[in-house]
Amino acid sequence: MHHYQNLIGGKWHDALGGQRRTITDPANGQALASVPECSAEDVGIAVAAARQAFDSGVWRQTSALERGKTLFRIADAIRKDSTQLARLEVMNCGKPLAEAEFDIADAANCFEFYGGLATKIHGETMQVPANSVSYVVREPIGVCAQIIPWNFPLLMAAWKLAPALAAGNTCILKPSELTPLTALALAKIIYELELPAGVVNIITGTGAGAGEELARHAGIDKVAFTGGTATGRKVMQAATGNLKRVSLELGGKNPNIVFADADFDAAVDGALFAAFANQGEVCSAGSRLLVEKSIHRPFVQAMLQKIERIKLGHGLDAGVKMGPLVSAAHREKVEAYIQIGKAEGATLVCGGERPAGAAFSQGWFLQPTIFDNVTPQMRIAREEIFGPVLAVIAFADEAEAVQIANDTDYGLAAGVWTTNIFRGLRVVNQIRAGITWINTYHPTFNELPWGGYKQSGHGRELGLYGIEEYLETKQVNINLDEAPLGWY
Ligand code: NDP
Repeated sequence: MHHYQNLIGGKWHDALGGQRRTITDPANGQALASVPECSAEDVGIAVAAARQAFDSGVWRQTSALERGKTLFRIADAIRKDSTQLARLEVMNCGKPLAEAEFDIADAANCFEFYGGLATKIHGETMQVPANSVSYVVREPIGVCAQIIPWNFPLLMAAWKLAPALAAGNTCILKPSELTPLTALALAKIIYELELPAGVVNIITGTGAGAGEELARHAGIDKVAFTGGTATGRKVMQAATGNLKRVSLELGGKNPNIVFADADFDAAVDGALFAAFANQGEVCSAGSRLLVEKSIHRPFVQAMLQKIERIKLGHGLDAGVKMGPLVSAAHREKVEAYIQIGKAEGATLVCGGERPAGAAFSQGWFLQPTIFDNVTPQMRIAREEIFGPVLAVIAFADEAEAVQIANDTDYGLAAGVWTTNIFRGLRVVNQIRAGITWINTYHPTFNELPWGGYKQSGHGRELGLYGIEEYLETKQVNINLDEAPLGWY
């Protein structure tokens, strides 16, 4: 079993108190590795290292061209190790191999995207009502704490680190206590590429032990958080002490709306993929399926036929389309929602159980589950379950579809299926969400901003918007009038 260490200040560290956590494969419970369990004291050491690296200018004063080239080198190294990284991701968080391969490739692309963007950060000159040359420059914010969840471990690390580094910040990344292994493999890549000490620090620990301290610590200038809405609220509160910048990518209860004029087969595929990719453990999952009444019954029937093709198993096994949930506790939470759905009077039309058989007995598997006849007020239609549970709600017309879609505290993503482009755009224009798709679901591009309205967070990751979250804005005024001011 591999015993990982943390990367702090360019050196490998164990937790000061010596505590370690065993990381297990959620498909079979087997121990994979152990990692340091950092406390607030360890966070303090990482903050000092990141602070020193920022204040010394070793990174922010490196030319943008060099910073960009470094990110390209990280992308290349990820690609070189991609087979191993994808397998590690599968074993640590349970997703099927094809999905992990996609994530690893996308993580490399993300470093490359921001590597290219490092040299495109630019300010502006302003025409002001004085004899002055006045312009605006963009500068890095400083030391950034970055806290990420367990569902897309390496990809979320890339989404956080790449724009921050391109902009010239220094970083302390904390992966989820459940899935730290690919982030620690990335630490090894960064160590071997000999980035200046303290520019990237990767520490492992719990939310309570290390995460809270990162959100609170006065030596940190910005905290970027991806996770649940309740935790996001805590992070925001903890950040008030020194008014650090905060960006939050939080949960969702996303509507996927199918109109009767949609391409039926494409919409059936899209509805299943929206709900069950990555075991439904996706913030942008289409977990509320809104179907027009005239096709509601045949649509559910068609999904039931196709859902049989979702083969459960260890993500490394051939043909597997759905792995285990990330932990025993998370499966219990999802199962509790299945009981709530039944008690609320929704119709369980498939799944709802743990799969039977020896292959599943040691892992946290759960069948893909569909509830039909869900009403918008039911808890299974309102609360984020974050597992393979789809709630189907029938609607009468376009106005009702939009009303139900927006009747949520969240505002992360939404899908619309229709062959009428006027309707598609009309509906999307009325949806209060940051990410929308027409006749597709889930494609995510490094070029486009990712983030939510309402309680799905604030700030955006990815694209040009993503780098904005890591930049300060400074005005510079140069007086061209040689005469004294003469005010007094
Ligand atoms: P959590 O909110 O429980 O945890 C996210 C991260 O925060 C983890 O690293 C966790 O550490 C840490 N953390 C926990 N408590 C605190 C705290 N008080 N202060 C600081 N950090 C803390 O989310 P999950 O890991 O369970 O991930 C699932 C959630 O993430 C879902 O709600 C999902 O919607 C959301 N998500 C949002 C995305 C988006 O882009 N909008 C993308 C992916 C997920 P630890 O693991 O040790 O508890």
